[in-house]
Amino acid sequence: MLNFTLIEELSKERFFLKKERLLNILERALNLKTLSLEDAAYLLSVNTEEDLKLIQQSSLTLKRKVFGDRVVLFAPLYLSNECVNKCLYCGFQNGNTYEKRKTLTKQEALKEADFLVKRGFKRALLVTAENSNICGVDYITDVIRYLYERSGLRILHLNAAPMEIEELRAIKKEGVGVFQLFQETYHKETYERLHIKGRKKSFEYRLLAMTRAIEAGFQDVGIGALLGLYDYKFDVLACIAHSYFLKEHYGTFPHTISVPRFRYARGAVIESPPAPVDDITFKKIVAVYRLAVPTAGIVVSTREPSGLRDDILCYGASQISAESKTSPGGYTQLVKEEDASQFSLNDTRSLEEVIISILEKGFLPSFCTACYKKERVGENFHKLAEKGVIKDFCSKNALYTFYEYLDNLENKDAREKIISIGKQKKVLSEDLVFKGKLL
Ligand code: SAM
Repeated sequence: MLNFTLIEELSKERFFLKKERLLNILERALNLKTLSLEDAAYLLSVNTEEDLKLIQQSSLTLKRKVFGDRVVLFAPLYLSNECVNKCLYCGFQNGNTYEKRKTLTKQEALKEADFLVKRGFKRALLVTAENSNICGVDYITDVIRYLYERSGLRILHLNAAPMEIEELRAIKKEGVGVFQLFQETYHKETYERLHIKGRKKSFEYRLLAMTRAIEAGFQDVGIGALLGLYDYKFDVLACIAHSYFLKEHYGTFPHTISVPRFRYARGAVIESPPAPVDDITFKKIVAVYRLAVPTAGIVVSTREPSGLRDDILCYGASQISAESKTSPGGYTQLVKEEDASQFSLNDTRSLEEVIISILEKGFLPSFCTACYKKERVGENFHKLAEKGVIKDFCSKNALYTFYEYLDNLENKDAREKIISIGKQKKVLSEDLVFKGKLL
């Protein structure tokens, strides 16, 4: 499915770095021409401050060309940590005896959802461990149905283990937006060393998960590699190759690419990353994903520290989580975060603080979920995004939903501050009147 020999060769290639070649690649990327894997490998090899700046500027220009200024906000909602797998880097690993094990009932999941809605979120990413007896497909569909019926969340995405087509079809039928799943590492040998128990042991089963998801009716899928497990050049190139494979076979790039980076997790077998990725490289990776896969949302989580998360918006990232808890029941304190979380968090700012930072950088916070309701998904979305049309929807809808958020914001001091910075940065109009409707 992916040409791993080529990926390996390109990840090791020592390129003769020339400004002319860099400018040529960036020009093609800015015109939304699909880059070759070799182009992407070349970009990943760039190492001078001056060239990195050129990559950063192009990725931001491209992000603006496709999505405008908006930055989508979401929160994860963890359903279960009762995992049967043993992934050596993960706090949910089966042999972790520190961990408090918990699977939310649907009533508990609703409490968590209500908490998030009260905070202003409209979209949540449901996350669950793998355990077909406790949190398998029947549980997942039940919770999704319950949350859609009773909570104010407008779209639910799902990060769960790879499944069979029939199982995925049942989940899709409940109205899930994006099915998200990370390959962790695309390097088979390393993968097999790090995943030693449970169904997750199978590298191939995981690699084909998105193909099954699309065949089950998911038009939007989210992929990623967990940075820090293996040589980043190999994993990033493989993730780009995976995106190209999906486009070639299903007419669209993945809807999102996430950039999870290894964090310490209490009770994990491996406590530090085998192949660490530093902050400068992390930024370069985000920019290269943007340039190589221009229509994908690039998702940055609270694994990253606040300053870096603010900066990364200028490298082409387009979606960020805020206020996250990575334990089931963490928002409503059914469990203590430190007793049941998957890994330690880095950015613990409130949603209001994150919004202020987004505005200060001149971007527009968005709570929009309209695309999923209006059939702007899969190939349709891709075509609109490629033509630079999706940003017109994004910008108006972001503003509409941001005004809606401000109308409902109970913390008056925070509201005043947000409005004042929004006006100062010319993101909000002086009269605070939104002219238009949700598109
Ligand atoms: N069971 C699902 C699966 O098989 O994909 C969900 C896995 S987990 C709840 C979600 C993601 O967290 C993983 O896919 C992995 O990339 C990431 N993760 C696990 N341990 C981590 C760590 N120590 N630091 C950062 N991210 C981690």
